[in-house]
Amino acid sequence: MKTTDIVVVGGGIIGFSLAYGLAKKGAHVNVLDNVKGMYSASRGNFGLVWVQGKGQGMPHYAEWTLQASREWHNFSEELSDASGIEIDYQQPGGFEVCLGEKEWSMRKAELEQLRDEFPGGNYDYQMLDRKQMQEYIPKMRLGEIVTGASYCQHDGHLNPLKLLTALIAAHKETGAELYTDQKVESVSYRNKCFEIKTAKDNYSAKKVVLACGLGIKELAQQVGLKIPIRPQRGQILVTERAKPSLEFPFVTIRQTHEGSFMLGASHEEVGYNTETTLDQMRKIATHTVQTFPELSRLQLIRCWGALRVLTPDAKPVYVESESCPGAYVATSHSGITLTPLHARILPAWILEGTTPEGFEQFHSNRFDA
Ligand SMILES: Cc1cc2nc3c(=O)[nH]c(=O)nc-3n(C[C@H](O)[C@H](O)[C@H](O)COP(=O)(O)OP(=O)(O)OC[C@H]3O[C@@H](n4cnc5c(N)ncnc54)[C@H](O)[C@@H]3O)c2cc1C
Repeated sequence: MKTTDIVVVGGGIIGFSLAYGLAKKGAHVNVLDNVKGMYSASRGNFGLVWVQGKGQGMPHYAEWTLQASREWHNFSEELSDASGIEIDYQQPGGFEVCLGEKEWSMRKAELEQLRDEFPGGNYDYQMLDRKQMQEYIPKMRLGEIVTGASYCQHDGHLNPLKLLTALIAAHKETGAELYTDQKVESVSYRNKCFEIKTAKDNYSAKKVVLACGLGIKELAQQVGLKIPIRPQRGQILVTERAKPSLEFPFVTIRQTHEGSFMLGASHEEVGYNTETTLDQMRKIATHTVQTFPELSRLQLIRCWGALRVLTPDAKPVYVESESCPGAYVATSHSGITLTPLHARILPAWILEGTTPEGFEQFHSNRFDA
């Protein structure tokens, strides 16, 4: 039996953001990850740090996302110092392109609603017409059917694989331990202590954090929590490298630091299926070429499907169990965007019980009705 202060179950972006932050605050942390697991959103995502469009129906989530984007610059420097790894973080602002008048009007209405709901009504975005948009992107010609875009100065992007590698390296620097190939099979609570069993080992800890993405649902039940999450597939395409021409990330198109264009991602309700399909690849490629016709000359070199970890309202859940105090769940779509808060605010909640105003809105009891 290995004994520690806190066991974090799950070695994805959220697990490692938390583990790094907890260890930095002095806790002895063990991360248990099932590396052979089939599903890792952290290894298959699009790499956006994205604010615009998020938070409809929950203004606090819009504020939470904005706060994360404001902390990103400082956090990326901290992570680079702690790990020695650059994650290619940039925040030039980002676009969501509109193809046709209808898309433009719908996007405008959507963002106006967000602005109306946002505390103080000062939600930052601009609706740009085609001419204004083209002025931002002089090096690339817009397709005929582009009517304009929404733009938000807080949006950015990074290399998500380098982010995960940097978090793992920074976490190791704190002296914390990572046990890979450890699928957690059960979590039990006795005498104010948790026993966490994998096929190979047993761990004992005062606290346990379930941050294992799609694996949460099953384990959360064992500590008295009902967390309704589901998979949603996103397919992504990658082109060969090209000279730098697109400085701004789009929600569906971005040029990486290395020069490739990432294109995507689909939204498909297909259960636990990570296959790629010709139909979706064609849709993504068509949307890309309609936006920037010149990208049609680039070769596609890779594609993959990965599963989002979604709650019913696609917003985060952060909750401590009432029946097993000391057991926590942390899950979110947009786990890349929210990394600084997961590494800085959630550890204070878990270790000291301190939470920012409005944090209770992320409780899973909002789904009980
Ligand atoms: C196609 C796509 C595009 C996306 N684009 C963006 C984006 O641009 N920006 C953004 O902010 N977010 C994006 N996301 C979302 C983001 O990737 C996720 O929010 C984030 O990766 C979730 O991280 P996680 O650590 O919770 O889950 P995961 O990455 O799934 O990690 C969970 C880990 O837990 C392990 N595990 C599961 N069960 C167990 C168990 N029983 N025992 C031990 N280990 C276990 C798994 O093997 C895995 O390693 C995207 C997601 C997808 C799929």
